[in-house]
Amino acid sequence: MPNCTQCGTWNPDDKNVCWRCQTALPKPQEKKKSAPRRFAGLPLYLWIALAFFFVMLFSSRCFVAELSRLAG
Ligand SMILES: [Zn+2]
Repeated sequence: MPNCTQCGTWNPDDKNVCWRCQTALPKPQEKKKSAPRRFAGLPLYLWIALAFFFVMLFSSRCFVAELSRLAG
């Protein structure tokens, strides 16, 4: 519900001009759904999570390999 920029009066959404002072009202901006950026059908954060997972997997493998090398 946009308030008049001129007099601050509340106006219904369907009004184009202020009912009080006839000032043109700013059109209510439609809230754009912030769609997550997608890459190959998957949202970007999922790829990041996957990459993080694989990095963790790889590093843990290296860590285990290092440990076993040290141990034996
Ligand atoms: Zn007004």
